[in-house]
Amino acid sequence: MLSERRSVLVIYTGGTIGMIRNAETGALEPFDFDHLYRHLPVLESLRCRIDSYSFSPLIDSSDMNPDFWVRLAEVIEENYEKYDGFVVLHGTDTMAYTASVLSFMLENLNKPVILTGSQLPMGMIRSDGRENFITSVEIATAYEDDTPIVPEVAICFENKLLRGNRTTKFNAEHFDAFFSGNYPPLAEIGIHIRFNRNQILKPNFRKLKVHRKLDTGVMILKLFPGIEPAMVEAMLSVSGLKGVILETFGSGNAPTNQAFLDTIARAIARGIVIYNVTQCKSGAVEQGLYQTSLRLGQLGVVSGADITTEAALAKMMFLLGEGYSGEELAMLLTRPLRGEMSAEHL
Ligand code: ASP
Repeated sequence: MLSERRSVLVIYTGGTIGMIRNAETGALEPFDFDHLYRHLPVLESLRCRIDSYSFSPLIDSSDMNPDFWVRLAEVIEENYEKYDGFVVLHGTDTMAYTASVLSFMLENLNKPVILTGSQLPMGMIRSDGRENFITSVEIATAYEDDTPIVPEVAICFENKLLRGNRTTKFNAEHFDAFFSGNYPPLAEIGIHIRFNRNQILKPNFRKLKVHRKLDTGVMILKLFPGIEPAMVEAMLSVSGLKGVILETFGSGNAPTNQAFLDTIARAIARGIVIYNVTQCKSGAVEQGLYQTSLRLGQLGVVSGADITTEAALAKMMFLLGEGYSGEELAMLLTRPLRGEMSAEHL
């Protein structure tokens, strides 16, 4: 599957994969890209051309933000014609958010954009970074009949390739750190890389279109038993707020007390779009299955079906950034745009 002629651009944003321990403070800090190659001489022997682009400064992914996402999308756009695929080295903490948002920003993506990182820095003896990195390069350059096998944004971690906008970081310690509860892996990685071709998006061969506008007037509000309507009211009254990801219980359920429902109704009346996403890691919101979600639907809360919180936030930022509002926005939020939701929930 690997070809002599394939080329990949490795984009280094920071994160544990390229970190080193500060001898004085003991804290992990990012180091420059040259060190990555020093720790991974095997890269030289991969039968493809590997170029690199390093962000400056490198960041811990907890500092990730929409401006950085725009710059990242632009690096991919500027280099799109020059490379067969892209590997983005990224901290694991917010990788699922970045993968989600890139999937929306990169419309008509027809090349692999594979995000990876590691739980242990590359320089450490048991680091998972080497395998993750090498496998990502293999996947980013995997073509068949001159067509990329994975023309989408994906996360390659431990022994799986997952659709980026279906993924959540679920473990802060294990090498197996990412989870896709509502969509099967795009590939399983063992002795062979076994692609699940039926699950992978097909290339559409249209011209890449990069969307740069992300609206930050969005918020995630996680419900919990005992949440005070006054607190909800305060959060929903933040100036500039346009969209809320409401993390509900189970299949989309929320408290039924009138004071809480009234705060939701008032926010919707002010034009705020509320997107119902489950706190569960698998399964979908089904507004109306229980009385406790029926009311939300009647008030105009939009069902997020089986979307992840990360993808919901990314989709909301993207659609608001594109200028959608009202009915049209609500309609697009319920439709899969980049494979981020399952069509059967429509
Ligand atoms: N804090 C790091 C980051 O997300 C953790 C990691 O890379 O795994 O940048």
